[in-house]
Amino acid sequence: MKDIKSLTLDELTQAVNDLEMPAYRAEQIYKWLHEKGISSFDEMLNIPKNIRTLLGDIYYISVASIEKKLISCYDGTIKYLFKLYDGEFVESVLMDYHHGYTICISTQVGCKMGCTFCATGKSGFSRSLNASEMLAQIQTAQQDNHIRISNIVLMGMGEPLDNYDNVLRFLRLVSATQGLNIGMRHITLSTCGVVPRIYDLMNESLQVTLSISLHAPNDHIRSQTMPINNKYPVDTLLNACRKYVDKTGRRITFEYAMIDGINDSDDCAYELSHKLKGMNCHVNLIPVNDVNGVNYRKSNKQRLIEFSKILDKNGITVTIRRTLGSDIDASCGQLKRNYVPQADSEA
Ligand code: SAH
Ligand code: SF4
Repeated sequence: MKDIKSLTLDELTQAVNDLEMPAYRAEQIYKWLHEKGISSFDEMLNIPKNIRTLLGDIYYISVASIEKKLISCYDGTIKYLFKLYDGEFVESVLMDYHHGYTICISTQVGCKMGCTFCATGKSGFSRSLNASEMLAQIQTAQQDNHIRISNIVLMGMGEPLDNYDNVLRFLRLVSATQGLNIGMRHITLSTCGVVPRIYDLMNESLQVTLSISLHAPNDHIRSQTMPINNKYPVDTLLNACRKYVDKTGRRITFEYAMIDGINDSDDCAYELSHKLKGMNCHVNLIPVNDVNGVNYRKSNKQRLIEFSKILDKNGITVTIRRTLGSDIDASCGQLKRNYVPQADSEA
């Protein structure tokens, strides 16, 4: 069976043509799939029954069905555990910021990158998601809440740049005017630093915001917590970032999860300021989230404030990120880790 919702309108037009149907059917079908977000061919009311049956014999429609849902009693943040067509699970988090709804979606089932502080990284890797499965997370959340989502962050489970082709296809589909129509400027892609793919992304000249999970100012600390650093060290990564900013004119965000006694000293703050000097960037500080089976402790609030003051004094734009949904453990990977214990690679 083929995945119909991952096709672009041009590809769908070609497929419809191959089935000897008139071209206008492609637009009708595309609308049902993308604008209306239907989950079965029988819901395509303006498509004759024989065509719906034919489509159903060749294609399937990707869905993300709600397996579990947690709602924060502090701020209404909703965390979903979605089930995919093959029984795999991924997580998404829906947040209500003042300027609209933002969804954090997953791009893979699990992750290969093995960052030591990350629940997803601890659970191993199963497979990458298709573009349609990324879309389906957004569509289900919209339908479940009768809302329109205005911003997307690729910060759920998985490393987006380790699933480059499907993520690029997703970006094109989600921003298409005939589809969900969410502009690239409203999308943030977060990566642990797969440098060659950062260069590829730069050459696509998209308007997406790039967010880099840096979490350390030097190789000594970063290699302890993020194995990708052994392949693409801090200076190599930051060089790519500078080029990205120059080429796209887009400001880069650096994520920095503060771990007590590991990466939160004054020296780290000075070193980070020095490394980022002159770059059009922004640092997001957050206390590291607790993860079952991981011994890291979060830095205290005072430490975050002092660290941010050093960055600020040295000319680096910095914010301490508001944590939403703290009671429902809105950091991705945790819900699945607790729900599907057999998915853990570690006993
Ligand atoms: N793989 C991508 C995107 C998914 S992870 C990446 O690493 O950027 C999304 C974000 O959550 C990343 O910034 C990641 O470093 C961060 N993260 C993972 N585990 C965390 C934890 N325990 N506490 C705080 N942030 C965490
Ligand atoms: Fe993968 Fe990102 Fe988690 Fe690292 S932080 S293991 S790259 S999901």
